[in-house]
Amino acid sequence: MFIIHQIPRLHFLHIPSSLTTRKPIKLYLIASSILSGPNPVAIPVPISESGPASFSHFSTSSSQSPPEENIQLSLEKLFVPPETEVSPPENGIWSARILKGSNIVLSKYAGGGAEVVNAEFVKSSVKTEECPSDGLPEFALVGRSNVGKSSLLNSLVRRKRLALTSKKPGKTQCINHFRINDSWYLVDLPGYGYAAAPHELRTDWNKFTKDYFLNRPTLVSVFLLIDASIPAKKIDLEYASWLGQNQIPMTLIFTKCDKRKKKKNGGKRPEENVQDFQELIRGFFQTAPPWIMTSSVTNQGRDEILLHMSQLRNYWLKH
Ligand code: GDP
Repeated sequence: MFIIHQIPRLHFLHIPSSLTTRKPIKLYLIASSILSGPNPVAIPVPISESGPASFSHFSTSSSQSPPEENIQLSLEKLFVPPETEVSPPENGIWSARILKGSNIVLSKYAGGGAEVVNAEFVKSSVKTEECPSDGLPEFALVGRSNVGKSSLLNSLVRRKRLALTSKKPGKTQCINHFRINDSWYLVDLPGYGYAAAPHELRTDWNKFTKDYFLNRPTLVSVFLLIDASIPAKKIDLEYASWLGQNQIPMTLIFTKCDKRKKKKNGGKRPEENVQDFQELIRGFFQTAPPWIMTSSVTNQGRDEILLHMSQLRNYWLKH
């Protein structure tokens, strides 16, 4: 295990040390109506004076949320985007606007172009150099085979079968580019850890995707998908640590959060698996990476991912 000392500028901003103590914080959870208008709806949520914030009492308009369970977050576990302040107003209470089911503070860059109006498959590439060269910003989806990557992609673009393109024979090991709103890309990368694949092939896929991560200047952030319905897997932890070590901006997308049934053999609920995963990767990062809980069955997290992408993208475009 290793500690990452250098952290990506875009994603892992230091919260000033004065903020990392457990100060009271007032959180505003942002409704998905931000997607359809310029003025976000901020909902103040009362929390305890001792610091951790509660994520209950909130629903978005377009997703059917599961029964709420509290996720306790203290200030040092929040992801604070660049140029975003979690600052004390006059009464001394810190305030932040946070996306539901995540640790992500919203910035002034959130909103513009967050809705998906159109989506089209553009091309499959077998090398980084073959990827589209029009300079549009992109987000790469990656995860273990069966994590729910195709389902999430379809849910994001509200199309039932768009991601089928990536599943066609010969395309599963490609970098598949989907253009969204003619202005940015969602990129579907090969799934990893497929047990039936011969070892040499698996190693090859690693090399192939790692080359893309390291040599794609328009890559705004990797979205690493983690199955929240099962305990953390070593290969996922290794992937997260590799991205951190190489300073590749990363957002953790926890999938299948609708699978709430506790298994008899000591299985845990999604919230518990999400918290466990955070604990396990803490040593890899100086500050918390952003994460969002999702389900492609209920569309939980869909609007939140799109808003998060919009703020990363709009910031990227301005810098
Ligand atoms: P991929 O191999 O990562 O592209 O995974 P798929 O999107 O094909 O999904 C793998 C399996 O998980 C399929 O049986 C999906 O129906 C199921 N699945 C995907 N997303 C979800 C989800 O959010 N909730 C539940 N309950 N099942 C899901």
